[in-house]
Amino acid sequence: PQTDDESFNHFITKYIKASKKSYIKAMRLKQNIDKKNTVPGELNIHFDTYQYNEKYYSFVFTNRMSANDNDLTTSIKTVFYNIESKEILDIQSLLGEDDKNLETFVTHVRSVIEANKELQPVLLKEDMLLATEARWILFDKFAIHDDELVIYFDEGSIAKKEYGPVSITIPLSFLNPILAAEFQIEMVAEENPGNVIDDNRKRVALTFDDGPHPKVTMQILQSLEKYNAKATFFMLGNRVQYYPEIAKEVHNRGHELGNHSWSHPVLPKLSKAQIMGEFTTTEEAIFASTGHESTVFRPPYGATNAAINEMIPRHVVNWTVDTLDWKHRDQHKLLPIVQNGMHNNAIILMHDIHQSTADGLDAVLAYLSSEGYEFVTVSEILPYR
Ligand code: ZN
Repeated sequence: PQTDDESFNHFITKYIKASKKSYIKAMRLKQNIDKKNTVPGELNIHFDTYQYNEKYYSFVFTNRMSANDNDLTTSIKTVFYNIESKEILDIQSLLGEDDKNLETFVTHVRSVIEANKELQPVLLKEDMLLATEARWILFDKFAIHDDELVIYFDEGSIAKKEYGPVSITIPLSFLNPILAAEFQIEMVAEENPGNVIDDNRKRVALTFDDGPHPKVTMQILQSLEKYNAKATFFMLGNRVQYYPEIAKEVHNRGHELGNHSWSHPVLPKLSKAQIMGEFTTTEEAIFASTGHESTVFRPPYGATNAAINEMIPRHVVNWTVDTLDWKHRDQHKLLPIVQNGMHNNAIILMHDIHQSTADGLDAVLAYLSSEGYEFVTVSEILPYR
């Protein structure tokens, strides 16, 4: 690929030249070992281009080199390019140059690899752990393709060499909390309708999204119990499937279970059938683990429209106070943000997948109960909104 950006062109040319050089070196070596060998070698480099959000282009080069019949080496090289700023971006800029984000990213990468059935028979478990340590340099091959981040691993680095290079995909929506601002999908808060009935009682609905999580959700349940507080958990179907016993525990302790879609996509981008699929599969998972249906629905990112609200057979509810817990991941920031945004009949957004949220919750509960708030579920607060 050539562009009107000389430095980009140079970068590509350098890569092609280096590939040729190592190919020629391999061929010479082969000739020295076996002078009679007449099997031709081959170097084949092809590339695919993917566009994302107008200005980003991913170039994925597949380099196949064989010095004889039974020795094929395949390697991948990627370039992620901002065509406006003419910059080549690395994974570090995608994840906001934040080491904490890198650690979360590693967790995602490993769980995707471990959940990939096709990979299991060829997976080199220990090599995989080494190749996915929290070091930026290990994730230098990636592309964005159809709202998914694709990460490539060299052949033999996480799976048996015969399998070739491995690519795994993670939906960008899943990575939203750890993406740099310009790659994030915007969150839309619910507008305060202003028709609040004032009956002199103070109520608040705490909501926890994106779980369940085996450790964080359980810790949150304990804190809630301490303050005799009821809350609403908007769960993702794919996580309920992993942790059915946690979903059941949430239900058994008298909290409300909400449906938050199966895989956390931006619903307005999906077809009607896909949206219903997200809803229904999650419903099935919730029913399978708790024996009950969900009672409310929250669209991922708060992104919805009139047609979706009509289609989903539940109250579609967003929030009025966003704790931004997914962003700061600092237990000491939770309470000040709640204090700052608090109003009667508030619906507070938190996430039961971050340890910092579980750690900061006690202070929030202590403050709100000292202010005389009653902790109710979303369904209970809706009539007052
Ligand atoms: Zn969510």
